[in-house]
Amino acid sequence: MENVKHRKLVYTVKDLCRVCYTCVRECPVKAIRIVDGQAEVLGDRCIACGNCTIVCKQGAKVYERSIDLVSRLIDLGDHVFALVAPSFVADFEEAGEPEIFAGMLKKLGFKEVFEVGMGADLVAREYEKLINANPGRGYINSDCPAIVSFVEKYHPKLIGSLTPVVSPMVATARYIRKTRGEEPRLVFIGPCIAKKDESDEVDAVITFMELRQMLTAGRIRPSNVEPTQFSPPLAMQGAGFPVSRGMLQSMKLEGNQVDQRVMVAEGRVHFQEAIREFADGHLGSMQLELLCCEGCTMGPGTSPGGKKFVRRKRVLNHLHQRLESIPRGQEKEQAEVSATLDLTRTFKQDDQRIADPSEDDIGKVLQRMGKFSMQDHLDCGACGYDTCLNHAKAIAQGLAEVEMCLPYSIDQLHQTIHKLADSKHQLNSVEQALRQSEKLAHMGQLSAGIAHELNNPLGVVIMYSNLLLEDCKEDQQLREDLQLIVDQAARCKTIVGGLLNFARKNQVRYSRTDMVELMRISASSIIFPENIAFKLVNKLSNPAAEIDQEQMVQVITNLLKNGVEAMPNGGALIATLSDSHDWVIISICDEGTGIDAGDLEKVFEPFYTTKGIGKGTGLGLATTYGVVKMHRGQIDVKSSNKPENGPTGTEFIIKLPRIRKL
Ligand code: SF4
Ligand code: SF4
Ligand code: SF4
Repeated sequence: MENVKHRKLVYTVKDLCRVCYTCVRECPVKAIRIVDGQAEVLGDRCIACGNCTIVCKQGAKVYERSIDLVSRLIDLGDHVFALVAPSFVADFEEAGEPEIFAGMLKKLGFKEVFEVGMGADLVAREYEKLINANPGRGYINSDCPAIVSFVEKYHPKLIGSLTPVVSPMVATARYIRKTRGEEPRLVFIGPCIAKKDESDEVDAVITFMELRQMLTAGRIRPSNVEPTQFSPPLAMQGAGFPVSRGMLQSMKLEGNQVDQRVMVAEGRVHFQEAIREFADGHLGSMQLELLCCEGCTMGPGTSPGGKKFVRRKRVLNHLHQRLESIPRGQEKEQAEVSATLDLTRTFKQDDQRIADPSEDDIGKVLQRMGKFSMQDHLDCGACGYDTCLNHAKAIAQGLAEVEMCLPYSIDQLHQTIHKLADSKHQLNSVEQALRQSEKLAHMGQLSAGIAHELNNPLGVVIMYSNLLLEDCKEDQQLREDLQLIVDQAARCKTIVGGLLNFARKNQVRYSRTDMVELMRISASSIIFPENIAFKLVNKLSNPAAEIDQEQMVQVITNLLKNGVEAMPNGGALIATLSDSHDWVIISICDEGTGIDAGDLEKVFEPFYTTKGIGKGTGLGLATTYGVVKMHRGQIDVKSSNKPENGPTGTEFIIKLPRIRKL
C-alpha cells in the first residue's frame, strides 16, 4: 500500500477573499471551511480538483506553484526531461505544430521532451489485460488523481474497485527510467493540480499556466524556436486520452465491449453520482471512466477562457495525425517494453468522512438560524450549500457558520438597523435634555445672583415703607402712595422667592406625606369652571413619600391652574398618581390647546410666558422646575397643538424619589 501524503496544494489568499461562498458551493467534497468569515481549505479533505481556483473570480484561491523548483533543476544543468500531457495541443494552439511546442521546451532548457500519451498507451494495455481477465468485475479507472483521492477519502470501501494500474504520467516515468536510467530529472507538464501530489516518481509537476509564465519570462515564442522532434516512442491512441472515452478508444476490449461495459462521467456532479451508484451496486460490472474536470482539456491548470469543444477538436486532430504517422513496428516494440514494465500500483484508505450530526444538534442549529418550520427552509443556496438542512449539518460539523445564511444575515442586519435607529433617537432625546438642563442650570446661577443682590435692598425698602405706612395718618394723601410701594415691594419679594426656588437655593423641608391627600389639598385650592372635569386617578401601590409638602402643593396647584387656563373651551383635567420602583410619578394632563413646539423648549425658563403682559410673573413653571430639581426629581412635558394629528393637550410628568435622596 502506498502512503497517502497530506500536502496542502490549494489555499486561500485571505486579503483577496470576498466571502462569496462560490468556492464552498463548487467544492465537490466540502473541503472549504468558513471560519470567522474567511474561506479556508482543509488540506486533509481537499482532493485538489482545482474547481475552487477556477470559480473564484477574485483570484483568492490559488495552488502551489513549482516554477522555482523547475527553474532550479534546469539551472543546475541536470538532464531535465519534460513529460508533456497530451492535452498540450489543446492549450498551446499558438504553437501550431507539436514540434514547435517541443522546440519551445527545448529552448527553455529541457534536454528531451516526451509525450505522456505514450504512457497512456501503456496504461491502456494494462487496462485491457485487467478487464479481459476479470470479465464479471467492474472497475473505476485510476488515471485521474482527484478521482483516486475522492475514492480514498470519501468511498474508502471502494479502493478495491480502483484499477490497480499507474497513471499515464507514472507509466511514462517508469518507461524513461527503464530505458534511460535514474539520472534524468523528470518534470510533468499538464492541466492538473492534483498531479502535483500524485507520485514521487517524477521530480516536479507544473501546470500549463506555470509553463506559460516560464515561457513568457524567457521570451520564448513559436516564432523564435526551431521545430524539434519529441523523443520516441510517440503517442498512438493515447494522444486522444484527454477527452472522455479517450482511454476507451485506447483499449482494445474483446468483442464490442466499449459500448456495453463502459460508463463515462465527467465534471464534479456527474463523477460523484456515478461513484454513488457504483457503490450502491446499481452498475454491476460496468467499467467507470471518470474525470473530475470536464475533460483534461479543461483542467484547472489550463489557460482560462478556452472553448471546450474547440479544445477537444484539437486533441482529436492531433490523434489522427499521430495514428497516421506511427513509425512501423512501434506498436510491437511498445508491447514488448510494456511486458517488461511493472505498471501496478496500490491505494490507501484515507477516510475523511465526518459522521452526520444528531437530529437534536441539527435542530438546535436550525433554530439559531431562525428556521423553525419547513416554511423557513428557503433552500436558496446562497450559503454555498444546496439546502438549509445541509448547511445546518455543516455548521454542526464545524465546517460552516450561521452567518453564511443570507436571509438570516439580512434579518440580523435589519434588526441592527432598527436598534441603531432607536439608539440614535434615544441619544438625540438625551442630548436635547442635557442641553436643556445645562441651559437651565446657567439660568439658575444667574437668577441666584440677581435674587441674592436684590434681597437686601428689597428688605430695606419693605421695612421702611411699612414703617412709614404705620406712621402715616389714615387721612393723609401720602398713605395711598406708601401702600402702593408696600404692595409692589411685596410683589418683588415673591419674584425673588420664585427666582431662588428656580435656582434651587431654597431649603427643602422633607416630611413623610400621603401623596393622595396632598393632591386633594392642592386641588381644593382651585376653583374649576363648570366646563372642566377634574379627575384624580390613584394607581399608587404605596401613597407615602418624603417631600416638602408646602413646596409640592405650590407645584401641583401651579400645574392645575395652567391646565385650567389652557382649556378655555373646557375638557378633562386628569391628575394621575403612580409609582415605579423607588419613584412616585405625578402626571397632570389637560385637553387644552397645547403648546407650540418652539415654546415647549422654553417653558421652564424664568420670565418666559405666553400669557399677556401683566398676566403672571412667568416664574410659575420655573419655580416648579426648581422645586422638582431640589427634590432630586425629574420633570418632563409633552404637548400637541395640532388637531390634524389627533387630540390636543399638554401633560406634565413629575418623577420624585419616594425617599429623600441625599
Ligand atoms: S470563491 Fe471562495 S475564495 Fe474566492 S472570494 Fe469567494 S469565498 Fe473567497
Ligand atoms: S481543490 Fe477541489 S477539493 Fe480542494 S478545496 Fe478546491 S474545490 Fe475543494
Ligand atoms: S436560506 Fe440560508 S441556509 Fe438555506 S440555503 Fe439559503 S442561505 Fe443557505
